[in-house]
Amino acid sequence: MLTRIKEVLQSLMLLELLKGMMLTGRYFFARKITIQFPEEKTPQSGRFRGLHALRRYPNGEERCIACKLCEAVCPALAITIESEQREDNTRRTTRYDIDLTKCIFCGMCEESCPVDSIVETRILEYHGEKKGDLLYTKPMLLAMGDKYEAQIAADRAADAQYR
Ligand code: SF4
Ligand code: SF4
Repeated sequence: MLTRIKEVLQSLMLLELLKGMMLTGRYFFARKITIQFPEEKTPQSGRFRGLHALRRYPNGEERCIACKLCEAVCPALAITIESEQREDNTRRTTRYDIDLTKCIFCGMCEESCPVDSIVETRILEYHGEKKGDLLYTKPMLLAMGDKYEAQIAADRAADAQYR
């Protein structure tokens, strides 16, 4: 009975409403943590796992030796590789596709690569508008690597300090 009277009194005095307004007021004046994406960005780790890229050596030669370790380790079966032996007896890929609609961005492909060829960049803003747009082919991946090599190399050098 006493509890019921207390509840009625509290409700008449609009205590719950006041408590709610106090909470709103506290957050109204607190430091804002919401950012205005895409104009504002949150800090990003050098280990961010975004869009993939295939890297080259400084002389322009592709790093990838078509060992297919990344294809074997990929849990989403997102990588498809075909390869052939070149005239100088080295092996290179003739096809290297990543289906980004399957990829779960686990990073296992880059972890497994013995020559640091397939990597995940910091790029997170990309999209596809029609079927097939998110199937990244070897030329597309190499172009990504060429475009962002400076950032990729800098991130790897910084990361190496902690290994
Ligand atoms: S990030 Fe993971 S899921 Fe995506 S291609 Fe690499 S190994 Fe496969
Ligand atoms: S990207 Fe690396 S792991 Fe994948 S086939 Fe090429 S060399 Fe092997």
